[in-house]
Amino acid sequence: MPEAAEVAVAAAQLHQVAAGRELSALPVTHPRTVRHTDPVSLAALVGRRVTRVRSHGKWIVVDLDGADAALGIHLRMSGQLLVAEPGTPHPDRHVHATLALGPHPDPFWPTDSPACEGIRRPERAVEVRFRDPRTFGELRVLPHGVAPVAPDLFDPAVTGSSLHALAARRRVGVKAVLLDQTQGVAGIGSYLADEALHRAGIDPTAPAGELATSAWERILVAARAIAVDSIAVGGVTLEDEGWVDLWGRPGTYAAQLQVHARATCAACDTPTSSAVVGGRRARWCRRCQHPRRRR
Ligand SMILES: [Zn+2]
Repeated sequence: MPEAAEVAVAAAQLHQVAAGRELSALPVTHPRTVRHTDPVSLAALVGRRVTRVRSHGKWIVVDLDGADAALGIHLRMSGQLLVAEPGTPHPDRHVHATLALGPHPDPFWPTDSPACEGIRRPERAVEVRFRDPRTFGELRVLPHGVAPVAPDLFDPAVTGSSLHALAARRRVGVKAVLLDQTQGVAGIGSYLADEALHRAGIDPTAPAGELATSAWERILVAARAIAVDSIAVGGVTLEDEGWVDLWGRPGTYAAQLQVHARATCAACDTPTSSAVVGGRRARWCRRCQHPRRRR
């Protein structure tokens, strides 16, 4: 499932493709794709120029000129955004919405994301297709451009202290707090949590309320560093997951994972442990992540 890194890659690439263009049409062909938004407010976004595309947690936020709302895109389990020539047929039936984008007046558009290196922005009209076989993903109108989640992983408001305060007296495992998108921090999914906890030396099943601020700080620093490294190589594409970037390319950060989706720890070769924490599977190394470490 796409997490902060993959969503940041998709948002940077969509910015590269869409910024400066008019959203000329937005046909939606599956009702589930817009289940949380009304068609009138969605239609009001059509005809406006895209000013910026950014990520907030696992949301891709498309800001539009003169609109008091943004277009939110959530990929959830299996969503993909794919660039295509307008009108060309798609090889399968899983495209449920299309962002039709008009021609661009200026072929040179600055970008500083490594996710866009070597990519030439198309000048003619272009389509970005929302493909989603499992239909958990969605398009949603976001009033005032605000994603309905906690502050983003890279938001300076998120600190070791803010996470420590949030987790106070909570008995749930630390991984459950990291995965909660509505409180604390948004964007951390299963692999970022497993990898950040491994790098920080913290057991994912440790009661969240017992961790010192210094431990939360170390987890946060690790999660941000791992996300940056993952973004640089296009994110994580595991065998059973469908993440690809806007040009259909898988990410290669899976080769750098230390414990997530691994039978043994890449750092010390100890067989990894696995348990369900907060409804999701956690994987960790009992040697690198000491069960009693709290600071
Ligand atoms: Zn280890």
